[in-house]
Amino acid sequence: MKKGVAIVWFTHDLRLSDNAVLSAAIERHEQIIPVYCLNPQFHQSTQFGFKRTGSRRMQFMLESLADLKSSLTAIGAHLQVELGDPVECLVKWVKATGASCIYTKKEVGFEEIELQQRLMKELWKCNAELTAISTSTLFHPEDLPFGVRDVPDIFTDFRKRAERETSIRKTLAKPDQLTTPSLPECVIPTTEQLGYEPLATDPRSVLAFHGGESEALQRLAYYCGDRKLLSSYKETRNGLIGGDYSSKFSPWLAQGCVSPRSIYEAVKHYEQTVESNESTYWLIFELIWRDYFRYAMKKHKQKFFRLGGIQGKRVPSDRNLELINCWIEGRTGVDFVDANMRELRATGFMSNRGRQIVASYFCNDLKQDWRVGAAYFEEQLLDYDVASNWGNWAYLAGVGNDPRGNRYFDIDKQARQYDGAGEYRKLWGR
Ligand SMILES: Cc1cc2nc3c(=O)[nH]c(=O)nc-3n(C[C@H](O)[C@H](O)[C@H](O)COP(=O)(O)OP(=O)(O)OC[C@H]3O[C@@H](n4cnc5c(N)ncnc54)[C@H](O)[C@@H]3O)c2cc1C
Repeated sequence: MKKGVAIVWFTHDLRLSDNAVLSAAIERHEQIIPVYCLNPQFHQSTQFGFKRTGSRRMQFMLESLADLKSSLTAIGAHLQVELGDPVECLVKWVKATGASCIYTKKEVGFEEIELQQRLMKELWKCNAELTAISTSTLFHPEDLPFGVRDVPDIFTDFRKRAERETSIRKTLAKPDQLTTPSLPECVIPTTEQLGYEPLATDPRSVLAFHGGESEALQRLAYYCGDRKLLSSYKETRNGLIGGDYSSKFSPWLAQGCVSPRSIYEAVKHYEQTVESNESTYWLIFELIWRDYFRYAMKKHKQKFFRLGGIQGKRVPSDRNLELINCWIEGRTGVDFVDANMRELRATGFMSNRGRQIVASYFCNDLKQDWRVGAAYFEEQLLDYDVASNWGNWAYLAGVGNDPRGNRYFDIDKQARQYDGAGEYRKLWGR
């Protein structure tokens, strides 16, 4: 039997389709109140001196919220957007509505987990509870053949066992109606109202990214559609210029505007109706990397953010401001590194190849504290995702999940191989 009112606290799951949090709340409760909290922490700086969320990602988040709001309105509910500490905002909602339960997404980052624990304690005092549900991975944690503590420390071991012993759950249907108490319609603030400087769009950007589930599904249909881009993904994925060399799903995945399972189903459909080849598999392979960093972070928790990483290794701890600023501003004098850093600053995006190169340069050539580089990426990236960002940085700094240790990239060789004609460096030259 369904019980009273529940709150669905949206975080990095800004979608209606394949949203296990929303589906569970609807299944168990008569009325649902959808809430999103704009946490002031988003605008604060980290210990490394960069903002947690830069202007471009904030804009993308607000667009994603606007899209979620209109999708919810279409099925009968008004999204409530709160500005403030999530614990205070949510407790206020519980007290005002008598909700017995808050549903939300299970988190992997330790700060996010701490926040949920703080909320749980406060809810206890109001006779309410928090239910956190996994909804952001390809492989569901309960289906994996190992528990969190036994997640293999080598990606290939994780992938092989997961692929062999786990089947991927089907996506959940988008709800067609929500029953909700009568609530006012709220206004989503603008980036300027939140204190961000408006930033111009750079015409050289790989894509005009806009947040929201509708845009994510359009991009999915485009990439897995008639132009057959997916058929050559493995060959093009190391590209640097334009929208088509890779899927560009990452900003939408990071805000949860689309689930990895929806992408998986689109790829399977493509394999059945168009063709199945190494490239179609390779997109799934990359999504497994995404899963892997999430599970590795769940296992190693804070160790992921330490200088010595999960291996506890000794690595450079220097923080030379002059060198770091040259890297940030694309003034190192190494043209391939500089071009990539300028692209990031001007657009919030950088290719996977570029990210590997500039991160290797930061750690191995400039020999700086890798966490400063990771924190700068955290501020700038449109697709920032705590596990993928810190996991990849630690990997490249030689303190993460890489059995081979140090990952040194010969920048000249990389430039010759991936930008032989110098087009990319010309595009992002001064
Ligand atoms: C130093 C560094 C920092 C990074 N920070 C982030 C980050 O904050 N957020 C983020 O989503 N990705 C991050 N990545 C991974 C990767 O660079 C991006 O996911 C990718 O470039 C996004 O473009 P795409 O969607 O076109 O990728 P595609 O090549 O089309 O791949 C499809 C999807 O697979 C996943 N994926 C691909 N490569 C990786 C990878 N190496 N690790 C984890 N997932 C992967 C992403 O979800 C991506 O959207 C980082 C990589 C490096 C080297």
